[in-house]
Amino acid sequence: MRGTKIVATLGPSTDDPQVLNDIIAAGVNVVRVNFSHGAFEAHKARVEQVRAAAAASGAYVGVMGDLQGPKIRIDRFRDGKVLLNPGDAFTLDGDCDPTAGDRQRVGIAYKALPEDVAVGDTLMLDDGHIVMTVEAVDSPRIHCRVTVGGYLSDSKGINKQGGGLSAAALTDKDRADIRYAAELGVDFLAISFPKTAADIEQARALMTAAGGQAGIVAKIERTEAVNNIEAIIEAADAVMIARGDLSVEIGDAELPGVQKMICRTARSMDKAIITATQMMQSMVDNPMPTRAEVLDVANAVMDGTDAVMLSAETAVGDYPVQTIQAMDRVCSAAEKHPPSFRLIKQDNPTEYRRVDEAIAKTAIRMAEKLGVKAIAALTESGATVQWMSRTLSSVPIYAMTRHQNTLRRMTLYRGVQSVLLDQRFSEHALANIRAIETLRRIGAVDDNDLVIITKGDFLGEHGGTNAMKIVRVGYLPNPRQVQVDA
Ligand code: PEP
Repeated sequence: MRGTKIVATLGPSTDDPQVLNDIIAAGVNVVRVNFSHGAFEAHKARVEQVRAAAAASGAYVGVMGDLQGPKIRIDRFRDGKVLLNPGDAFTLDGDCDPTAGDRQRVGIAYKALPEDVAVGDTLMLDDGHIVMTVEAVDSPRIHCRVTVGGYLSDSKGINKQGGGLSAAALTDKDRADIRYAAELGVDFLAISFPKTAADIEQARALMTAAGGQAGIVAKIERTEAVNNIEAIIEAADAVMIARGDLSVEIGDAELPGVQKMICRTARSMDKAIITATQMMQSMVDNPMPTRAEVLDVANAVMDGTDAVMLSAETAVGDYPVQTIQAMDRVCSAAEKHPPSFRLIKQDNPTEYRRVDEAIAKTAIRMAEKLGVKAIAALTESGATVQWMSRTLSSVPIYAMTRHQNTLRRMTLYRGVQSVLLDQRFSEHALANIRAIETLRRIGAVDDNDLVIITKGDFLGEHGGTNAMKIVRVGYLPNPRQVQVDA
């Protein structure tokens, strides 16, 4: 059983119902709907298609809506694109006709840009493919010198190396998209370009006000977010290491160290991690990953990521199914090796904040010492299960609940499988029996295996996990006997 989760971005390549069925069968756990591209109706159709395909296959697939955020872009060129050579003078011009850029200048939609840059700043366009240095600022114009040339085409993004762009995290479009996301009932909402914890809190408040319950994912892609990492992680449910924009802002050479730092920090703060962007980029055009991509995915797994994410590979690539299959086999093999760093919290019981957290983490430790085959967590919200999955244990955790939204929410957490079970039993012995029967039915356990069951005194009550039971499969009373006794 693979513990690491796979997030796949939906797009034209996955619109074919057969491809969608095949990627779900190959093991996709969460799909990402990218609000940067396409209309609400198209996103809605895709989400409905995923839910129908998942229900037909019996799999649980989470849905993540990803906000566009304040991505700063150039306007358009008269001929669609221009070739810029190193040494060329080029002006980002707030006064230029938005459709009439040429080899000398192009318009900028974000009018505050001249106030955010200074002479000597490095601007990265098109994800860093084109680089220019600011030579003079004469608002609304920024005069630059090209240092890395190439073709620059319509509407490409602009980043400032080192960060410092003032654009607020949530645009008017994002606010409207949060309402749509709530209407779609997404399980996760990814916030693009947050700078502070307040950006995350604001997005959560808007989601709650719109009636949504999505887990909030903070995309770390700005220098300011790296500098505020602990506060942002604290405010969010999960972080996404959004390596595309992040690499452009902090410089590619800094990325490996920062990726590991974010992963370690999020793990130590008991939050989930998604490692994203170009993980298997060559599979957009090829049926096999490169050795470097295999290593990149495996290293993220060994560093403790909960999930690995695919973008263009599944959204527009030629081999979406083969990419999921490759991710699946690489993650499964990498999980056989020990994590690359020690998990401090696992061995520090003095830091338990809640009873259910203490039960969750103690259950994992005990499971490892006793050679337990499976943990059955009878849960309402999934909180106990989230804590269990923070410890990177190799013991499979089964999140058993009657709530569809909890079942889908657990799709992001490493080592956790969602299992439908109405856990509101009047009798604890019966709850144990049903949990074991269910595990046996799905092939998770067999006679003589040890299982740990966690639950609360009041079965079916949120936040009430306060008990742990260790049982040996095949040594429980006959269920009919329990019912009669009860
Ligand atoms: C990224 O920049 O790496 C990222 C995941 O964001 P997006 O795909 O929205 O550009």
